[in-house]
Amino acid sequence: LAQLFRPLDLLGMVYRMIRQGIIDMDAMFSLVDRAPEIVDAPDAPPLAVDHGAIAFEGVTFGYDDDRTILDDVSFSVPAGSTLAIVGPSGSGKSTIARLLFRFYDPQAGRIAIDGQDIAGVRQASLRAAIGIVPQDTVLFNDTIGYNIAYGREGAGQDEVVAAAEGASIADFIALLPDGYDTQVGERGLKLSGGEKQRVAIARTLLKDPPIVVLDEATSALDSRTEAGILDTLDRVARRRTTITIAHRLSTIVDADAILVLDAGRIVERGSHRELLTANGLYAEMWQRQAQEREKGELVA
Ligand code: ATP
Repeated sequence: LAQLFRPLDLLGMVYRMIRQGIIDMDAMFSLVDRAPEIVDAPDAPPLAVDHGAIAFEGVTFGYDDDRTILDDVSFSVPAGSTLAIVGPSGSGKSTIARLLFRFYDPQAGRIAIDGQDIAGVRQASLRAAIGIVPQDTVLFNDTIGYNIAYGREGAGQDEVVAAAEGASIADFIALLPDGYDTQVGERGLKLSGGEKQRVAIARTLLKDPPIVVLDEATSALDSRTEAGILDTLDRVARRRTTITIAHRLSTIVDADAILVLDAGRIVERGSHRELLTANGLYAEMWQRQAQEREKGELVA
C-alpha cells in the first residue's frame, strides 16, 4: 500500500515547491528523490545575501537513522571563490548540494550563508539565491526560448538572447528553423547532452544567482565539447560563490580549494598541487584518471 501512496507524496512535494516559488525544476528532478516535508517557520525572514559566503559547520546527516551519509563535515567557501568536491561514487557529494538547498535538514551542525543559518530563513529566498547546472537538464516540451526564459520569471527576449550568448548556444539557436521559437524536448528537436547543458547554463546566467552549484555529468562529453563547456562554466562561476561536484579531476585543477570526501568524511583538502604533494586519495584518483585518459587516447 505504501508503494501506492509514494507517487501521491511526490505530487504533494512538487505542489509545495511550486507554491513556494521554487522554479528550479532541474534542482528538483536531479537532486530530490523524495524529501520529507520541510516547513518554514511562520516568521522566517528572507535570506539576506551579501556576498554569498557558505559555511558547513559540523554537519552530520543520514537519509534515515540507520546510516550516516555525512559525518561531521565542516568547510567554508569564501564569497566569490570556487570549491570543488570530489570523492568516490556514493561518498556524499550530491548530498552536500541537497542540504545546501535545504531539501533536508542535518541531524547535527548547521549550514550558513553569509552567517545566517539556512534552517531559519524562508526557503523560497534560499533557493532564489542558488542556481544549479545539473548533470542532466530536463527540457520542457516547449520552445528553446521558453526553456531558457524559465531561468527567471518575466525575462525579456533581449535578456534571453544575452544569456544564450553567454552560454555559447546563441549561434546554434540562430541556425534552427524557427530560431528561439523552435520546439524542443520529447515532441520536438532533441538536443545533445552538451547542448542541454548549455541551456542549463543560459538559464543560470539569466537567473544570475550569487551562488551556483555545478554538478558535472558523470558520462564524459567528447573532449572538444567538454573544453567548450568548461569555458562557459568558468563564465558562470566568475564573481559567484561556486561549488562544483566533480567526477573528472582534470576539470577542477584551477579550483580555489578542493575537498576530498570518502564515505561521508572529509579526508583531504587543499589545492590541486597541495593534494598531489600529499600523495593520498586525491593523488591516487588523479593517477588512475590520468591512466584512463591515456588509454582513451590510445584507443582513439
Ligand atoms: P556519485 O558520484 O555516484 O553521484 P555522490 O558522492 O554524489 O555519488 P550521494 O548521491 O551524495 O553520493 O549519495 C551518498 C549516499 O547516500 C549513497 O550511498 C546513496 O545511496 C545514499 N542516498 C542518496 N540519496 C538517497 C535517498 N534519497 N535516500 C536514501 N539514501 C540515499
